[in-house]
Amino acid sequence: MDNLEDWKKAGELTSKARAFGKEKIKIGVSLLKVTEEIEDFIYENGGKPAFPVQISVNNIAAHFNPSKDDEYIFRKGDLVKLDLGVHVNGCIGDTAISVDLGDNKELISASEEALKEAIKIVKPGVKLREIGKVIEKTITGKGFKPVRNLTGHEIKKYEEHAGMTIPNFDNGDETQLVEGQVIAIEPFATNGVGFIDEGKDSEIYKLLEEKTSRDMIARNVLMKIIKEYKVLPFAKRWLFKDFPEFKVNYALRLLEREKILHRYEQLVERDNGLVSQTEHTLLVQENPLILTK
Ligand code: MN
Ligand code: MN
Repeated sequence: MDNLEDWKKAGELTSKARAFGKEKIKIGVSLLKVTEEIEDFIYENGGKPAFPVQISVNNIAAHFNPSKDDEYIFRKGDLVKLDLGVHVNGCIGDTAISVDLGDNKELISASEEALKEAIKIVKPGVKLREIGKVIEKTITGKGFKPVRNLTGHEIKKYEEHAGMTIPNFDNGDETQLVEGQVIAIEPFATNGVGFIDEGKDSEIYKLLEEKTSRDMIARNVLMKIIKEYKVLPFAKRWLFKDFPEFKVNYALRLLEREKILHRYEQLVERDNGLVSQTEHTLLVQENPLILTK
């Protein structure tokens, strides 16, 4: 395993940032403020966000990152997913937790238990479908549904989603885990139909191709993106540190149109069901190492 120390360091910091963030999510508090505090915490502790901190509420399953003017205040009843990643020299930890501001303990425990049960069977040679089966069985056993079109994934250096995908149900995939792989397992449970659709545009972008733009403003913003974030996802908000708002808006629109950048969409439960999520990053070996424990 190359760079094991960096993978461990990234995992530990991810887990610390998760604990820090969990305490901040409370009724009456601003989602934007919590997001920024967690992002600052990551930098202050020697890491960098591997992707923008995502705090997705209720029927939004994932990919919510606030704009700089976001006004959302956590409310009584909210089911809040905090999903975050930290990288140290490109080695990534990815973890998520669900916070209950209402009466959703059962739904949250469904994704937590599913992750726990899945981790129990992780070792070299285990088939992906078997992991999916354990997750599905645990969640349906509690009266909920797994979200079928959201998955865990393999992680490589500077590549958040690389190689294999790890299903949240038995999808028939006979591929086996291999010693030394880094994987993220992330069961999503819902009281809806168990599928997500793409919703509104998110504030999260990612570089698709390192080509240049003929437009000078776009080119300057693009150089900053390549230098700071490489191919890792980033938030539009982050660019306001270095460029005025109109330039960022102009450049991102252009770069998206030129297919140099990809803009993510929010992922919303098809039936507007509530969604819970729990996630850990693991190193696959005979006794798997939970890097984000
Ligand atoms: Mn994640
Ligand atoms: Mn993940």
